[in-house]
Amino acid sequence: MCGIVGYIGKSHNSTEVLLSGLTNLEYRGYDSAGIARICNGEIEIIKSCGPIVNLKDKVNYSKNSNIGIGHTRWATHGVPSIENSHPHKVGKTTIVHNGIIENYLELKKDLNAIYEFKSDTDTEVACALLDNLYKECNDMLKAIQNFQDIVRGSYAIAILSDDEPNTIYVIKHMSPLIIGVGDDETFIASDVPAILEYTKNYVVLNDGDYAKVTNDGFKIYDSNGNEKKYDVRTFSLDASSIGKNGYDHFMLKEINEEPEIAKKLINRYIENGEIKKLPSIKDCKNVTIVACGSAMHAGLIGKYLIEKNIEIPVSVEIASEFRYKQLFIDKNSLVIVISQSGETADTLAAVKIAKEKGAKTLGIVNVVESSIAREVDDVIYTEAGSEIAVATTKAYFAQVLMLMFLSLRDKDLDSEDFKSAHVDIDKLIHRDEIYDKIAKKIHEQNDIYFIGRQIDYSLCMEGSLKLKEISYLHSEAYAAGELKHGSIALIGDGTPVFSVITDESIAEKTRSNMKEVKARGAHVILLISEDLDYDGDDYDEKIVIPAHQEFLKSIIAIIPLQLISYKTALLRGCSIDKPKNLAKSVTVE
Ligand code: GLU
Repeated sequence: MCGIVGYIGKSHNSTEVLLSGLTNLEYRGYDSAGIARICNGEIEIIKSCGPIVNLKDKVNYSKNSNIGIGHTRWATHGVPSIENSHPHKVGKTTIVHNGIIENYLELKKDLNAIYEFKSDTDTEVACALLDNLYKECNDMLKAIQNFQDIVRGSYAIAILSDDEPNTIYVIKHMSPLIIGVGDDETFIASDVPAILEYTKNYVVLNDGDYAKVTNDGFKIYDSNGNEKKYDVRTFSLDASSIGKNGYDHFMLKEINEEPEIAKKLINRYIENGEIKKLPSIKDCKNVTIVACGSAMHAGLIGKYLIEKNIEIPVSVEIASEFRYKQLFIDKNSLVIVISQSGETADTLAAVKIAKEKGAKTLGIVNVVESSIAREVDDVIYTEAGSEIAVATTKAYFAQVLMLMFLSLRDKDLDSEDFKSAHVDIDKLIHRDEIYDKIAKKIHEQNDIYFIGRQIDYSLCMEGSLKLKEISYLHSEAYAAGELKHGSIALIGDGTPVFSVITDESIAEKTRSNMKEVKARGAHVILLISEDLDYDGDDYDEKIVIPAHQEFLKSIIAIIPLQLISYKTALLRGCSIDKPKNLAKSVTVE
């Protein structure tokens, strides 16, 4: 969600680094942007609403600057506007901030007597507080320490002070922030891709850490004010691996990477008819899967698979609900958390709560060394590579694959069937004709429905979410048998209904429900696995999913739904990789 970038050094003009960093952070989602750079000892702040190009248009490139901070804002407090966008300057202090200051109203009451506020943001209050604390001691490190004792909430902050034009200070608490290490230059960023053009080496800040960054390097302090030792890590991907590789959109590129991901993970984890290299979970009493959005839908598939294959009870909880509900977990429970970014605030909070209750925690995470990956007892990486499109496709797919492997850990498998899957997945991706036809049919509709049972119902939920988030079409997923208990009233002439049938045990049942909607005029689009395929008059369009062993054939069925969402959004002229109002990694509650 939103982003921070900072630069200090002699090798580059800070303007160039800040603007390229912000451009590389665009995928996280934002509504306005700004930079503060120091030119000849003076701070200059430039802000704009909308895309980064608007900011680029406002910048005078002839000015030289070796130090600056930049920000993309995803508004939480106050509408997207120039006044509310960052950087904010109060007194001698200029800051950019990601996150939420929860007690800002309380703080604002006291600070109102000293400062005149120009924005509606919590950030400007944090800036005023810092400035005031600095005024009291003339020592920014001390002021930061006091600041951390007073504020509540989540924050990654970069600070410039009029009194120290050659220094950037940073603070991190429950919002991601790293320091990039170059030759005689230092970078600050929300994540590595922002600065990958300049360096692959970085240091991860932990919650409560703060740092002073100068031309001579940086020092990191823990929340007690003690200087800390740190490890410099090296990012394993290069900048080209996060480009579009000739695809029109990251989303399309990422869907096209699914066969390769399947091949890689299958080869890594399946050997001689067995799953290797994964922990066995069969000895825990119960499992709770906690996640948000698509990762939660992956969790629903995980529930189905674990209950079926390991026969232990599984509940799936939305992370934002889990953290406030009455919990029934203990030391015999396993809590599995799923997150692409590994930074999802609610999911991270859930890990901490689960640990307090004594449960064992297992993370299924894409971003290596992310906060969740570091917090859980055990981590399984999905290894899907950088996912840039806000709407997840390949990372969701990899999450489901890993859950399937986990559930099959103690079973005998048909390795050959698994090993040939990527070829069929690739073929499935390239059935453009049918996906184009369906997208054309649905792109001007108002309401679209998805029906399925058991694992197919979970697939429907993800298919429906994908359509909503990138094409802004209203859609709902229903357990097929539930429709007639009310919602079937919404089905009329031509209403598109996707019906997913990949699970043999309920195929006949879903088919009956399909007939019910067909009888009420629905335009039925059937997704059916090859082994269950039939010719009939109860559907209008049909997509056949290649036959593979149980579970595998089901999870592949998401791919046509991802592609139909993509093509529908394209026909509707939507911003595919950066849908409105959404952010890639949701680092606020
Ligand atoms: N809460 C701050 C605001 O609304 C920061 C939002 C962000 O993380 O971009 O300005």
